[in-house]
Amino acid sequence: MTDVSDPVPGLDEYLRQFEAYRNELDQIGFILTGSITKRFMRCGTVGCRCQTDPKALHGPYYEWTRKVRGKTVSVRLKKKEAEQLMKWIENKRRFYEIISKMEKITLEAVNLIRV
Ligand SMILES: [Zn+2]
Repeated sequence: MTDVSDPVPGLDEYLRQFEAYRNELDQIGFILTGSITKRFMRCGTVGCRCQTDPKALHGPYYEWTRKVRGKTVSVRLKKKEAEQLMKWIENKRRFYEIISKMEKITLEAVNLIRV
């Protein structure tokens, strides 16, 4: 497949690389914005060991944090949920990494046809 009317030597190779990245994009599932944090916390109970012993802190607690219309929003998650969302956040990072590579190849193609 080519999307320029006149064949330009070398352009096919760029197109092959581009298609390879497109296939990689095809393998990516849900993409999610934000970050997952894991933390241990102190409670408010007087006399609880967590007040004095760092090893007795409660948790771990998992949170998904993101910006919604400029405001930071955090949602408490179960461990399994956190693990799933981490994968979707990683998917997004990978998705944009691939898009960026596709753009670079397209720029190479521009240089090739602008002679
Ligand atoms: Zn406590």
